[in-house]
Amino acid sequence: MSDERPGCLGRFMRLFGLKPRSRQNSGTVEELPYRLRDDFLSVTESSFWRVLMAAVGNRATVCPKVGLRDIFYVARPNENAVYMNQIKQKHLDFLLCDPKTIKPFLAIELDDASHARPERIERDEFVDRVFKTAGLPLLHVPAQANYSLRMLSELLNPYLPPVMDNAASVAIVPPVPATATSPEIPNAPPSIPLCPKCGVPMVVRTAKSGEHQGKQFYGCPNYPKCREMKPLASK
Ligand SMILES: [Zn+2]
Repeated sequence: MSDERPGCLGRFMRLFGLKPRSRQNSGTVEELPYRLRDDFLSVTESSFWRVLMAAVGNRATVCPKVGLRDIFYVARPNENAVYMNQIKQKHLDFLLCDPKTIKPFLAIELDDASHARPERIERDEFVDRVFKTAGLPLLHVPAQANYSLRMLSELLNPYLPPVMDNAASVAIVPPVPATATSPEIPNAPPSIPLCPKCGVPMVVRTAKSGEHQGKQFYGCPNYPKCREMKPLASK
């Protein structure tokens, strides 16, 4: 049931042997030009990955090629555009996460020869500062054809938990600080506390679920990226 009249532009395009896009066989979908890459990890990265997996065992979940924008956020929302722009194109080689909570605890960069270039050194220094500021350790490992499991284990062990322990709890939702005796907001609220992680004024929130449902507390305006919270009476 398509309208076959090509219209002015359509007639013009046909003159040059072009097919007006909107008049292509209705019902068929244009084939998109995406294909699966065969080099998701380079040869060096694959080689390191295998030894890394052996070194961490079940003590970490390893995520390759993670965007910095997936790991970090900008604590001052009004400066988000400026600072997010500086990291949004950057990727990390490997991110080690707690297997139960998937909370990142160690970052690994494979440094190949390209890291000796001046612009790359500048980039690396900036990235190092980003990790340091956010409190995520970053290990630089020189890229090489083969890796020694023993050497990598020695490098990683200080950062890895000793052994997987079944007693480790999974804290998906941090407990809301209890204000059981006086759940009401005080008439004259104390000065608004700053988020200890972001340094921005916290906001009053109400627990939507869990054992403290309905209770109010101070939460970070950057939630859910930041889950810091304080009891309402706190300064
Ligand atoms: Zn915060």
